[in-house]
Amino acid sequence: MESNKTSSDFFFYEAALVKKTSLFKECTNIVVGDGDLNANIVFVGEAPGKNEDLQGVPFVGAAGKNLDKLLDRVGLKRSDIYIANILKCRPPENRDPLPDEIKMHTPWLLKQIRDIKPKVVCSLGNYATKFFLAGGEVKMMMKQTGITNVHGKVQEIEMEGVKFRLIPLFHPAAIIYNRTKLTPLWEEDMKIVKRETASV
Ligand code: URA
Repeated sequence: MESNKTSSDFFFYEAALVKKTSLFKECTNIVVGDGDLNANIVFVGEAPGKNEDLQGVPFVGAAGKNLDKLLDRVGLKRSDIYIANILKCRPPENRDPLPDEIKMHTPWLLKQIRDIKPKVVCSLGNYATKFFLAGGEVKMMMKQTGITNVHGKVQEIEMEGVKFRLIPLFHPAAIIYNRTKLTPLWEEDMKIVKRETASV
């Protein structure tokens, strides 16, 4: 498969910011997002891993397979939602995103939120959750509460002129390592996601 890095679809300001980062130089593909661009629910993960980088699609590796299973348990399919990441390019060795990378990559995520106008955003894991709780201010991210304390708690957020409900969820990769404890919590949290999506 040919890399999408030179695609003429990616000639806009927010993509140009991503292209300035060293992550862009090192990645195989830009991983933009997947799913329904008219969805009411947007899921936001952290960053592409190896398989996502190779295929140019988010959540296709082990975490993605678990996400599909978890969605299935609550009667949802990937085509019912839209899914994207904080970073559009894979960090080397899947290391944590750096503050400057988050600054340069998230304007594209915010453009996606402006375009889709979701009712509910589900942040998967700590990075995505802290980004939204910090109102997109990267330097405020470290002051935010971690996912263990805020999962399933609905927060009214307005960013980029879009009002949505943020519902933090455990990351599907974390659930793989602690299935017995975290799967029931995920299912409870997803009931809240469904209730909030129906009520807006
Ligand atoms: N983990 C993420 O956060 N995003 C992906 O796309 C894959 C794994």
